[in-house]
This record gives sequence, structure tokens and C-alpha cells, in this order.
Amino acid sequence: MTRIVAIDGPSGAGKSTIGHALAARIDATYVDTGLMYRALTLAAVERGIDVEDGVVLGVLANQCRIEVERARPEQMDRLETVRLDGRDVTLEVRQPHIDRAVSAVSRHAQVRTAMLSVQRDAAARGDTVMVGRDIGTVVLPNATLKVYLTANAQVRAARRAAEMNAPDRLAEYLAEIERRDAADSGRAIAPLRQADGALVLDTGRLSVEACVDAIAARLEALPE
Ligand code: C5P
Repeated sequence: MTRIVAIDGPSGAGKSTIGHALAARIDATYVDTGLMYRALTLAAVERGIDVEDGVVLGVLANQCRIEVERARPEQMDRLETVRLDGRDVTLEVRQPHIDRAVSAVSRHAQVRTAMLSVQRDAAARGDTVMVGRDIGTVVLPNATLKVYLTANAQVRAARRAAEMNAPDRLAEYLAEIERRDAADSGRAIAPLRQADGALVLDTGRLSVEACVDAIAARLEALPE
């Protein structure tokens, strides 16, 4: 039976680190849907498209080619590579101006509809660990296992400051995380929320390894 694990949670909850480690553990493909929304946001910013214009953004989402693929072993700066019309934009999509615009772009119905088919196609290829905001609730409601990762905003901001090696910017990261939490949870379509029956793990209290162990154990315990 194909195993599909849907992992959702707010920014900085550790979805990528834990999702990627889990995928390696269970030999599944890892797919980060946040990277797809980020690549689309970059495409919109580069073309000067208004982030409030859902119709134009929907057309753009259907026109541009966004591909997420496994990083090569020597690429130490990433877990995955994201391509926009063939161009490697992995590092660009993590820039602060994309952080600021991505929630506005991803709240439009037209954008989400376009992304849905790309994401479902990715999960149809075999065992998959997919991370995002609405994976267990909307994209893959029949996932084998749904996981919700969380941690309080202070912990997530501190983690981001450490990752970026910028302890002096803690307050800035906290404000950005709180703003994105509110936007992603408060939107009308596919808001961030815990899926029914999800395994909930607080990554502020549990190590990466403990989270991966807990998810893998829950998978093992499921009936075939
Ligand atoms: O996970 P990451 O922080 O890279 O996601 C960037 C943004 O993309 C989120 O803040 C959210 O607005 C959007 N997103 C989404 N649905 C997903 C994944 C990401 O709306 N499944």
C-alpha cells in the first residue's frame, strides 16, 4: 500500500527538517509545497503583478512551470531544489521580500486550484511525505497519516534567528512569524488548521529525532 504522510503547521515549526528526515527514514519522496507558493510569488514579483489580483495570479500559476526536485548530495544549502520555468530559484525564494508577499499570493482561490493538481500529481507517484498548511485538510484528505507540527511563536522565531545566524533580528522574525500565522490561519480558503485525527507534536518540546520516531511509530502501528 502506498504511504502518504501529510504534515502541516505554521512557519518555523520544523516541517521541512522533520518531513525530510521522515522521508529518508521511510524511503518516501519529500515534497515541500511552501516552495511552490514561494516560486509563484517570485514569478509574480518579477512581473510586477499585484498580489491582490487573484485572476491574474491564477493565470500565472497555470502558465509557469514550477518543479520541486530532490537536491543533489553536494548541494548543502538546501533540502530540495525548486525551479521556475527551468531556472533554479531555490535561494531566491527564501528572501525577505518573498516572505512578505507569499501569504497574500497564496490566499487566492485561483492560485490554490492551480497548485492543487500539481501537488496531488506529486503524491500520486508513490510513497510521499508532503509538507505545507492545508495538506491534511484539503490537498490529501485521504493521507495514510496526518501530522500537525507546532511550537510557540517565540520558539519558532528564535529558531529562525539561529538558522540565519542573526540573533539581533529576533524581534523582526517574531513579528514576521506572527503576521504570517495570522494571514495563513485567517484566510477564507484552505486556512492553516489541524486536520481531524492528526498526530499533534510540539517541536518546542520534542527533538527532531523524537518527532520522526513518533511519526514513524504511528505509521508502523497502522493496519496494513
Ligand atoms: O512553508 P513556507 O513557510 O515555505 O510557506 C510559505 C507560505 O506559502 C506560507 O506562509 C503560506 O502562505 C503558503 N503556503 C500555503 N499552503 C501550503 C504551503 C504554503 O498557503 N500548503
